[in-house]
Amino acid sequence: MQPLTQNKSNQFDVVIVGAGGAGLTAAIHAKQNGSSVVVLEKSTSIGGTTGWSVGSFTASQTPHQKKLGIEDHPDWHFEDMNFFNQGKGDFDNLELRRLFVDHASETLEWLMCIGVVFDGPYPESFHRKPRMHNVIPNSGSFVHHLRAECRRLQIPILTRCPVSELIKDNRRVVGVKAFLGSQEHITFMANKGVLLAAGDFAAGLDLKRRFLGPLIAKAASVNPDASGDGIELGLRNQGKVLNGGHASALKMRFIPAPKNILQSIPPYKWLAQSMVWGLKHLPSFLIRPFIMKFITTVLGPEPTLFKCGAILVDDLGQRVPLDDGNHAKNLIETSNNSGFIIFNAESAKQLNAWPNFISTAPGVAYAYLKDYESARTDICKKANSIEELATLIGVQSDTLKRAAADISNSNTFYAMGPVRGFVTITEGGLAINKRFQVLDENDHPIPGLFAAGSNGQGGILLEGHGHHIGWAFVSGLLAGQSISSLSH
Ligand SMILES: Cc1cc2nc3c(=O)[nH]c(=O)nc-3n(C[C@H](O)[C@H](O)[C@H](O)COP(=O)(O)OP(=O)(O)OC[C@H]3O[C@@H](n4cnc5c(N)ncnc54)[C@H](O)[C@@H]3O)c2cc1C
Repeated sequence: MQPLTQNKSNQFDVVIVGAGGAGLTAAIHAKQNGSSVVVLEKSTSIGGTTGWSVGSFTASQTPHQKKLGIEDHPDWHFEDMNFFNQGKGDFDNLELRRLFVDHASETLEWLMCIGVVFDGPYPESFHRKPRMHNVIPNSGSFVHHLRAECRRLQIPILTRCPVSELIKDNRRVVGVKAFLGSQEHITFMANKGVLLAAGDFAAGLDLKRRFLGPLIAKAASVNPDASGDGIELGLRNQGKVLNGGHASALKMRFIPAPKNILQSIPPYKWLAQSMVWGLKHLPSFLIRPFIMKFITTVLGPEPTLFKCGAILVDDLGQRVPLDDGNHAKNLIETSNNSGFIIFNAESAKQLNAWPNFISTAPGVAYAYLKDYESARTDICKKANSIEELATLIGVQSDTLKRAAADISNSNTFYAMGPVRGFVTITEGGLAINKRFQVLDENDHPIPGLFAAGSNGQGGILLEGHGHHIGWAFVSGLLAGQSISSLSH
C-alpha cells in the first residue's frame, strides 16, 4: 500500500468503516473477490462488540450437527425464528432472515476454515433442533483469526482512525473523511463503495435518548466504543433506521473480569480443540475452573439469586427494591448505577446446585457460586459478619446492616459485584436491500453506500442466542462479495 498522506486521496475499491466481526469478514471477502480494501477502526484495537460477545453462533446443517446425525434445515430455522420474535414489534425483514438462515452454515464453516473452533450444537427453547455453536475459548478467537486472515491477504487495518464524514459526488457516496492518529482529516476514496460496519449504539447517548428514551440512555454499555457512528453517518446521508426502538433487554451484569495470564495465550486452534476435548472427557472439578478463567465477556446474574434470598444494595449499601422484578431498571435509577448482591450461607448452599445457577457462562454453560469463588475472586467476597463484608465492599457498615436485616441470621455472608444495569446491544439498523445497499426514505438505494452487521440490521429481528453474531458474519461475508461484484 502507498503511504497514507494527509489531504491527499488514498484510493481503494472498498472502504470499510469498523473492524468488528462484520467489517473484517467483509474486508476478507471483498479482497478475495478482487477488490482493493482498507479497514478504518476508531478504537486502539480491533474487534468491537464482537470481541466482547459470548460468541454463540446459531445455524442449521452445520458440520457439528451432521457429525451427531442431527437432521436440520434452513427452512426450519427460518420458521423457528418466528417464535422468538413474536410480540417484538410490527416489522421483521423476512427477506434478510431468509439470507441469514440460508448462508449461516457456510459462514460458520468458513470461520472454522480460518481456525475458529466451536463447541456444540446446544439446544435452546423454540429451536426444534440443537443449533447453538459456542466459540472456544472465547470471542477473542474471532478477532485473532480474522486479523490473521487480513494479514495473510495484506489488507490494511488502520486503528485510531475514526471516520467522521462521508464524501459525496452528487448523490453517490465516493469516500470518507477520517482522523488518523494525531493528523487532521485524511481522505479515503472508494471506487466501488463504502461499507458501514461500525456497530450498534449501546453507548451512543443521543441515539439512545432519541430511539429508546431517557431511562435506557442511562444504562451502561458493555462496549464503550459502540457509539452508533455508522448509524449517524447513514442518517446524515439520507439513510433511515428500522426498529430503532428495540433494544436487547436491560440486564444486570457483573463488571468485566480483569485480564489474567491464561487470557493472554493466543486462541490457537490446537488449544481450543484440547479444551473441547477436556469439556467432554475430564472431570468437571478439574476443567471448569480452567475454562472459567478464559471468559472475557460480561456475565449477567440470573433472577434466581433473589429467589434464593439474596438482596440488592447500591454502592452506598442501601437496599434497592426488587418487588417489580425489574432489577436492572431499579439499579439504573440509583445515583451511580452500581451495586452488590448480598446473601448468606443458606442462600449460598442453594446457589451451588441445579437449578440455582448464578449465570450462564460460555464453555461451562451454567456457572454456580463455587465457579465464581474459584475464577472471579475480584467480584466474589466472603465474610463472617456484615461489618466485615461492608469493609470488603467499601460501604458504611451501619447502612449495610440496615439493608441486610432480613438475612442477618447467619455466620457467613457473601457479596457479589459490582453489578450494573446494562443495555447489551441496540437493535436499530439502517434499512438495506439484499445487496446490502443502504436505502433512503423511499427505499431507493443510496449509490455507493452499503451496511452490514448491526449497522445493516435492516429491520431483521434477531432474538434468541447466536443470531446477532451469526448476522454480523453472514452479512459481512455477503456484503463483501456484493460490493466487489460491482464494476467501478
Ligand atoms: C456481552 C455481550 C454478549 C454477546 N453475546 C452474543 C452471543 O453470544 N451471540 C450473538 O449472536 N450475539 C452476541 N452479542 C451481540 C453481538 O456481539 C453483536 O451483535 C455483533 O458482534 C455486532 O458485530 P458488528 O461487526 O456489527 O459490530 P462490532 O463488532 O461492534 O464492530 C464495530 C466496529 O466499528 C468500530 N467503529 C465504531 N465507530 C467507528 C468510526 N466512526 N470509525 C471507524 N470505526 C468505528 C468499533 O470500534 C468496532 O470495532 C453480544 C453482545 C454483548 C455486548
